[in-house]
Amino acid sequence: CLARFLDNLLIILIIVALAIGVGLGLGLRSDPTWQPTEKRKIFYLRFPGDLLMNMLKMLILPLIISSLVSSLASLDTRASGRLGVRAVVYYLTTTLAAVIEGIILVLAIQPGTRGKSKDQIERSGKARETQPLDALFDLIRNCFPDNLVSACFEKQGTEVKKLKIHVTTTTVAPTLTNVTENMTNFATTAAASVMNMTTIETPTTTAAYIEVDDPQIVTSSGMNILGLVVFSIFFGITIAKMGKDGKPLLDFFESLHNATMKLVMLVIWYSPIGILFLVAAKLVEMDDISTIFEQIGFYFLTVMAGLFIHGFIVLPLVYLIAVRRNPYVFMYNMLKALLTAWGTASSSATLPITMECLEFRNNIDKRITKFVAPIGATVNMDGTALYEAVAAIFIAQVNGIGLNIGQVITVSLTSTAAAIGAAGVPQAGLVTMAIVLTAVDLPIDDITLIIAIDWLLDRFRTAINVLGDAYGAGIVHHLSQDDLRRMDEIEAADAAKA
Ligand code: ASP
Repeated sequence: CLARFLDNLLIILIIVALAIGVGLGLGLRSDPTWQPTEKRKIFYLRFPGDLLMNMLKMLILPLIISSLVSSLASLDTRASGRLGVRAVVYYLTTTLAAVIEGIILVLAIQPGTRGKSKDQIERSGKARETQPLDALFDLIRNCFPDNLVSACFEKQGTEVKKLKIHVTTTTVAPTLTNVTENMTNFATTAAASVMNMTTIETPTTTAAYIEVDDPQIVTSSGMNILGLVVFSIFFGITIAKMGKDGKPLLDFFESLHNATMKLVMLVIWYSPIGILFLVAAKLVEMDDISTIFEQIGFYFLTVMAGLFIHGFIVLPLVYLIAVRRNPYVFMYNMLKALLTAWGTASSSATLPITMECLEFRNNIDKRITKFVAPIGATVNMDGTALYEAVAAIFIAQVNGIGLNIGQVITVSLTSTAAAIGAAGVPQAGLVTMAIVLTAVDLPIDDITLIIAIDWLLDRFRTAINVLGDAYGAGIVHHLSQDDLRRMDEIEAADAAKA
């Protein structure tokens, strides 16, 4: 009873903190000494929020590894296979559903043909170019980190550099014209060589440069969560297969998980303070929202309508059909995680709180939560997928480009892939959107048209991402009752034998 009271108190505190954060942010904005250019002041204002982000991110590593390893090590391998298949089927179908909803809405509302023209919309920043094939290979490559320790703080990616290659050709039988040509070449090369101290070429040799793409693997900062997830899954399965010999490792990871969850509880009590300052600082820092809204208001509304339909109608309906329980009670029990997702704009940082809500408020079996939640936070992003599809078609509309049915299908498939590939960190979806745009030959630089509003959409889509993960855990839990019961029986029989 006390626990329930404290839990509700915490939800109230988070909501109050959000309200104060919004009030404080807007209030400070109206003060002339607190303008968006006051970067240092905003930096200090964010400090309590940075502490929250740090604490949440600090827990991700022990939580992901201990959860996945202990869960898979305690399941028998056939059961974990079935659980995995259920989760993947749920992830793919709901993500595709989200994309289709987004596409229907953006085609119906046509936000790109309304409001101001492209030239009038302000651009900010510069878009990064990513080839779809490079992005796909990066995704697969990151599943297999070359070093577990560095995977905790960096990942690999492809960077295409331009390389100048010096080629020389020798004229075999010089005719009169190419003798003069070569003489000129000689003169130029000679002059250049005096300055650069390179070797002088012979009169019969012509020199030229060609420019080629030179793709290279580079590392960038940020945890390679996908790599750690893949490693933990295989490590957990291996421990399960070892039987008695693997027991000490299973106990170790189970104990690590329990200890980490205890730390999560502490951090949760700090979260209202952190969220308050994160939101306030963001509001002081943002561009003038009313002018942005005038320019791309319909685009914003389309994404919001899609997220609303997916989060409040489609996902609850899927849950209702699969589980036959009230989906809104389930959603209410996830409120703490949803508000944290909104406040932090990161599904990975929210993972500790998502797991706490699933385990303690929705009573999802620990083995399921530990297995499904970390994978969901890494690959299942319905909100991001929906937004990628809407944004790509919006950009086509702004450019007056009509997409044919084949291109629309390409947008839906690449949006799904881009959402899987996006890391659970703020605005990751904006980066992977280049994949969708390149696949249908849309100008990548036009991402800059939607950057101004992205921070706000990011918060809403992250909340929907987390909600999708939560319903997934609920559905897999319900469908796996038989497996769980069988495992309980085996465990009880083993205990009796011992
Ligand atoms: N911020 C999102 C998340 O963490 C990813 C994105 O759509 O940018 O789930």
